[in-house]
Amino acid sequence: MFDWLIVGAGFAGSVLAERIASQRHESVLLVDRRSHVGGNAYDCYNEAGILIHRYGPHIFHTNSQSIVDYLSQFTQWRTYEHRVLAAVDGILLPIPINLDTINRLYGLELNSAQLEEFFASRRETVEDVRTAEDVVVSTVGRELYEKFFRGYTRKQWGVDPNQLSKSVTARVPTRTNRDDRYFSDSFQKMPAGGYTRMFERMLDHPNIKIMLQTDFREIRDEIPFNRLIYTGPIDEYFGWQLGRLPYRSLRFEHVTLDQEQFQPVAVVNYPQTEDYTRITEYKHLTGQQNARTSLTYEYPTDIGDPYYPVPRAENEELFKRYEALGATCPDVWFVGRLATYRYYNMDQVVGQALATFARIQKSVPEWASA
Ligand code: FAD
Ligand code: UDP
Repeated sequence: MFDWLIVGAGFAGSVLAERIASQRHESVLLVDRRSHVGGNAYDCYNEAGILIHRYGPHIFHTNSQSIVDYLSQFTQWRTYEHRVLAAVDGILLPIPINLDTINRLYGLELNSAQLEEFFASRRETVEDVRTAEDVVVSTVGRELYEKFFRGYTRKQWGVDPNQLSKSVTARVPTRTNRDDRYFSDSFQKMPAGGYTRMFERMLDHPNIKIMLQTDFREIRDEIPFNRLIYTGPIDEYFGWQLGRLPYRSLRFEHVTLDQEQFQPVAVVNYPQTEDYTRITEYKHLTGQQNARTSLTYEYPTDIGDPYYPVPRAENEELFKRYEALGATCPDVWFVGRLATYRYYNMDQVVGQALATFARIQKSVPEWASA
């Protein structure tokens, strides 16, 4: 008999397993249908000895000191500030759009004040900014929207940006200075030994048993447990009884080249051309030295593992109905990007898991099974 069954060994499930095992001294069975822990943040050394991310580039960034302090129990950090270029009109330009992006794209020599005026003259008035298109056209105007955002978003999500909520493109800021970092957060570092090492340390506790390549559905009636934490897709948990929640997937093409470097930065985005959205070159993220280099191409698709909840009003409505079903299951906690249908970054999932643990501490007496 386990005190807790936790489904999913990504950030959500692993943080909760660690907290429950170390703070409540209760037994946890952590299951994942994949062959490894770490969820989508899993990294591994490939045949060339290069550390790659199997599910696409994962860059850690946060403004929360408490989340940094929590994870720092399990890893040291390597400073890395993410920079991304976009292939637009045949040249590589910094994205988020900044002063250098505009000056190089149009052969101008604007300063920041002039760039403000430039955007002001091009932006469209949108009374009610609701969609992923509205956000961009009301900030930088339609031409830049079409060059940098429309094609990428159509590829990534399979729908036009006007069908997606504003939160999608609002993730990417616009700057009038020369800051070319992808993120503005106060803490931008990578786990020094990689994500998987960090997860292994987090889960190295005698109260935690791990079963990989095991689907929840195979064991839910076989293994006795008291309480459940579920971090998979919430519609799947309920047998899709209210209909399917859309999750966008990706096909990853991993390649290794016999050359030391392929591109000038870790990620190059392709908003106008190609079927893939972006190419990642991992050595920029990790600082690894190797005579060869490994890349990942991301091809968006509807088929395959669920990676992204699709932020739009009708999906949120359906999610709310599943959430209401979840509220009728008192001994089940739904946590993480798939179970709460939120387009969360890693730090937000850690924050959500720690907040869930605080709620468990308040509402569940310890040694409930005793
Ligand atoms: P997941 O990591 O998805 O873990 C859920 C786990 O549950 C999975 O391992 C799955 O196999 C398992 N599972 C599901 N159902 C079952 C079942 N029935 N039985 C058993 N196991 C099950 N965030 C950042 O902060 N920075 C980034 O740069 C970044 N880049 C990203 C790039 C890509 C391509 C993607 C897809 C995401 C990126 N993210 C990034 C987001 C990040 O991956 C997530 O925030 C985080 O990994 C979510 O953790 P989770 O535990 O909620 O879910
Ligand atoms: N986006 C875009 N062009 C870009 C970068 C981003 O249109 O060059 C849009 C696109 O819709 C994308 C969203 O902004 O899905 C969020 O980008 P982010 O880099 O945060 O995506 P993620 O890393 O989560 O896939």
